[in-house]
Amino acid sequence: MQETSSTQRPGKVWFVGAGPGAPDLITVRGSRLLAEAGAILYTGSLVAETVLQWASPDCEIADSKSMDHAQVTAWLLDRAQRHATVVRLQTGDPTLYGVLAELARPLDAAGIPVGIVPGVSSAMASAAAAGECLTLPEITQTVIFTRLSERTQMPERESLVSLAAHGCTLCIFLSIERIEAVVENLIAAGWTSEAPVVVVHKATWPDEELVLRGTLSDIAVRCREAQVDRQALILVSPALGARAQNDYKPSKLYDAGFPRRFRPAREPG
Ligand code: SAH
Repeated sequence: MQETSSTQRPGKVWFVGAGPGAPDLITVRGSRLLAEAGAILYTGSLVAETVLQWASPDCEIADSKSMDHAQVTAWLLDRAQRHATVVRLQTGDPTLYGVLAELARPLDAAGIPVGIVPGVSSAMASAAAAGECLTLPEITQTVIFTRLSERTQMPERESLVSLAAHGCTLCIFLSIERIEAVVENLIAAGWTSEAPVVVVHKATWPDEELVLRGTLSDIAVRCREAQVDRQALILVSPALGARAQNDYKPSKLYDAGFPRRFRPAREPG
């Protein structure tokens, strides 16, 4: 761990994706930065504390759970004057549904260098936990990451009804408390009540991960019965359950008749 002296330039603040929960799902780069960091600020309500095992024992570690925006900013500005490497550890990928831009702005203004390390988003982790694919040849080739509007206002053109009308895969964040409203929006967009839905609670958290499967008609009840009302991702997709189906068309990528850069096309036969 390197300290900066008052005569040196400020350190660099890294926004690091912690991944979805399991400590070995942080990237190698992210864990290396945790080991190098003189100070780490993590979101205690969301980041699994086991990820902090990669930090150096003499690192200053603080939880931002009870800090407001101004306090988080002040903390990062202050620690950047004292340490060569400061980490702001965020759940999943730091560019999704975090406050990266708001926190980086005052650092940029103060001339403090900022770096971003991507993380495994809970959307990816949830699909893996459920053993599902988010895209499927000829069925859906588009994934929408979205949420219901709540305290954070959604742009009007991004209402769940209008997005769901595409019929592609939806990864719905931050909306499990309002699963009934999610279902209503999907039905209004034209999905049938038999459409499959997967809800993944605490994907990859050791001993806490829970995968709930249902349809639009019963998923809300299943969530309530399992007391899943936070930290869960809702997956809706025409690709769900594809592994159990045999009548899907295989991907062109593996089709022997489809020429690829490193493999000439062969005549079927
Ligand atoms: N940046 C994060 C998202 C932060 S918003 C990412 O890339 O995953 C917080 C929301 O993410 C939660 O409300 C929930 O919808 C989802 N989430 C975060 N961690 C999760 C996990 N381990 N399992 C399921 N959903 C999770």
